[in-house]
Amino acid sequence: MAQNIPELYGSLVFNDKIMRTKLPKDMYKALRKTIQNGSHLELDVANSVAVAMKEWAIENGATHYTHWFQPMTNFTAEKHDSFISPTGDGQIIMEFSGKELVKGEPDASSFPSGGLRATFEARGYTAWDPTSPAFIKDRTLYIPTAFCSYSGEALDKKTPLLRSMDALNVEALKVLRVLGNTEVKHITTTVGPEQEYFLVDKELYNQRKDLIYCGRTLIGAPAPKGQEMEDHYFGTLKPRVAAYMHDLDEELWKLGIPAKTKHNEVAPAQHELAPVFDTTNVAVDHNQLTMEIMKKVADKHGMVCLLHEKPFEGINGSGKHNNWSMSTDTGVNLLDPGKTPAENTQFLVFLVAVIKAVDDYADLLRISVASAGNDHRLGANEAPPAIVSIFLGDELTEVLKAIENDEFFAGHGAIQMDIGAKVLPHFVKDNTDRNRTSPFAFTGNKFEFRMLGSSASVANPNIILNTAVAEVLSQFAEKLKDVPAEEMNQAVHNLLKETIIAHKRVIFNGNGYTDEWVEEAEKRGLYNLKSTPDALEQFVSPKNEALLTGHNIFTKGELHSRYEIKLENYVKTLHIESCTMAELIQKDMLPSITTYMEQVARTASLKKSVVPDISVASEADLLTKLTALSESMIAGLATLKEDTAKAEGCEDILASAKAYQSTVLADMEALRKSADEAEALLPESVLPYPTYGKLLFSI
Ligand code: ADP
Ligand code: MG
Repeated sequence: MAQNIPELYGSLVFNDKIMRTKLPKDMYKALRKTIQNGSHLELDVANSVAVAMKEWAIENGATHYTHWFQPMTNFTAEKHDSFISPTGDGQIIMEFSGKELVKGEPDASSFPSGGLRATFEARGYTAWDPTSPAFIKDRTLYIPTAFCSYSGEALDKKTPLLRSMDALNVEALKVLRVLGNTEVKHITTTVGPEQEYFLVDKELYNQRKDLIYCGRTLIGAPAPKGQEMEDHYFGTLKPRVAAYMHDLDEELWKLGIPAKTKHNEVAPAQHELAPVFDTTNVAVDHNQLTMEIMKKVADKHGMVCLLHEKPFEGINGSGKHNNWSMSTDTGVNLLDPGKTPAENTQFLVFLVAVIKAVDDYADLLRISVASAGNDHRLGANEAPPAIVSIFLGDELTEVLKAIENDEFFAGHGAIQMDIGAKVLPHFVKDNTDRNRTSPFAFTGNKFEFRMLGSSASVANPNIILNTAVAEVLSQFAEKLKDVPAEEMNQAVHNLLKETIIAHKRVIFNGNGYTDEWVEEAEKRGLYNLKSTPDALEQFVSPKNEALLTGHNIFTKGELHSRYEIKLENYVKTLHIESCTMAELIQKDMLPSITTYMEQVARTASLKKSVVPDISVASEADLLTKLTALSESMIAGLATLKEDTAKAEGCEDILASAKAYQSTVLADMEALRKSADEAEALLPESVLPYPTYGKLLFSI
C-alpha cells in the first residue's frame, strides 16, 4: 500500500509544527528563543511544554517518558518512567511536569566516568536539550538530554559537543565581524554522516561466538570469492536487502531522520546509508538512533546488522564519512566559495582556517576516531591511512598557490580581486576529482572527514573539529581586529599567505595508500599515530590540553577522565577478544580437528584392512598437517593466555593498552593463521562455524 511519506515523516517527533499548534503563543515564542539563542528557560514555559508534550505523546500511544542521554560509551542510555500518578482512590492520572522535563536524576554509578565521580557520589543528572527534538519510540517519549555529575562535570558526549559548537559560533562571529559582516547573528556547524554496515543472516550469526561477543570474526578462512570482482559497489539490491532498507527508511523517517541515500558498498554484504545533513547536535543524535534502528529492523528481517569497523578479514571494513561545514543564520554555507569577491574572501579565510586547524590538531583528530575496532581499518589499504592530510583538488590547490606567490588566480575568466585571487569558480563537486584515499577531503562546499569508525558516535570527531577550527578563528580574529578598514584586504591576503606557507604540508592530493606517502608524510613532519595506544598518549599533551581547556570544552579533570575511559575501553575490548579467541580455539576448533582426524584415521585403517598394500599417504599427509596445526594452536593458546595475563597485570592503563597492542594482538593473529589453515582442510560437516562464504553470500 502506498504510504503518504510527507505525512509519515516526523510523525513521531515533537517538532516545530506540533509545538506551534500545541503551545500557547507566548510559550511557543519563549521556547523558540531558548532553542535559537540558548537563553534561559523559565519554569512556566517548561511546565507548558511538558503538558503539550505529554498530551501529544499519549495521543501517539506513549505510556512512559525517558531522559535519553549519551554516556561515554558508544551507546545511548535511558531509564523509563511512566506518566501515571495515583490519585489515592485507586485511580491514576497521567502526569508530566516541567521539572520532570527539564531535569532527571539517573543513578550514574555504573557509567564510565574515568574516576571523575567516586561511586559513593553516584548521583548524576540529565538536563533537557531543547535544541534536539523529543520523539516517540516503542511507546516511550524520548527527551534528548545532557548528562552531568552534581558538581557539574560532563559525563556524556553531548555536553562537550554543545560547548564546542558554542566555541565555534563565538569565534566565527568574531571573524565575520572583522571582515565587515554585521548581519550574521549565529553560526552552527552542520554534519551529514554516511554510515556503512554489513548484513548477515541471523541464524548464521548465532552460530558465531566471535560475532556475538566481539562484533567481528576472529577466525575464518577467506571465501573463494571476495570483493575482487568489484561487482557489489552500487550493485542491484537483493530483494531481502531492499526490503530491509525500505523498512529502515520508513522507521527513520517517522523519527524525522532524513535518510536519503542507500546503496551497496564495496565488500559483499556491505551497504551504506546517508541522511541529509543537519545541525551537528541533531545529526549526532540522529546517527545514534540510526545505528540502533538499523539493528532493530535487521532483527525483524531475520538478519543482524554489523556495525563493527572490521567484521571480516581480507575485505573492506566499515567507516563513517563525517561531512562537515559551518553555516550562518542568514543561510550562508561558510565553506561555499560564493559568487562575489567578498564571499570569496570569506570562503578563503574559513577554508584556510580549517587547513591550519587540521594541521595543528591532526593528532587530536586521529585520537577522536581511535578505537580497537578502527585500528583494523586505518592504514590498512582500504580506509584512509592513519596520517591525517587534506585533499583540496587541483583547482583549489592552484588558488592557494596563487595567493602564496602573490599571483592572481587565472581560472575561469573571473574578475580580479585585491586580495590576490580572482573570483573563484564555483566548486561543483566533481566526481573525477575525488580522492577516496584522503582522510580529509574538500568536496565542493564541505569537508569530508573519512577516518571515523562505523560503530562509534560521531560526537568525538566533531568536538575536536569544531574546537580546533574555533581556536584558529580566534587567532585570525585577534590578528585582524585592529586593522583599519582600508588595509583589511591586504591584511587578509597576508594572513592567508602566511597560513598557507606554514600549513601547506598537510595538503596532499595524491594516493594516500602508498608507502611513498608514508615516507613523504614523515619528511613533512606529519603525525602517523598507528594504533590507538600510540594516539591516545597524545590526548593529554600540553598543546591539546591547552586547546580543550582553553575553550572550556573539558576541564582538566574531564579531559583526563576521557583519556582513561578510552584506554580502558581499548583494554577491555582486547581482553574480550582474547578470551573469545581462546574459547573458539580450545572448545571448538581443536575438538573439530580431533573429530576429523579420527575420521581420517579410521578411513585409512579401513582401507588397509580391505586392501592391505594400498597407500594411505594422503590420509597420512592430512593427519600430519592437522597435527602440526593443532600443536601450533595449543602452543599459541598458551602464549595468548600468558600475554593476556601480563597485559592485565600492568599497573598503568597506558602500559596495559600498549602490552595488549604489541603482544596480544599479534598472538591472536598467529593463532588465527593456524586456525584458518586448519579450516581450509576441514570438511563442512565438522566445521564448528559457518564459513565466510556462507556469512557473506547467503543473503
Ligand atoms: P558522497 O558522494 O560522498 O556520498 P553526497 O553528496 O551524497 O556525497 O553527500 C554526502 C553527505 O554530505 C550527505 O549526508 C549530505 O547531506 C552531506 N552534506 C552536504 N552538504 C553539507 C554541508 N554543508 N554540511 C554538512 N554536510 C553536508
Ligand atoms: Mg562520501
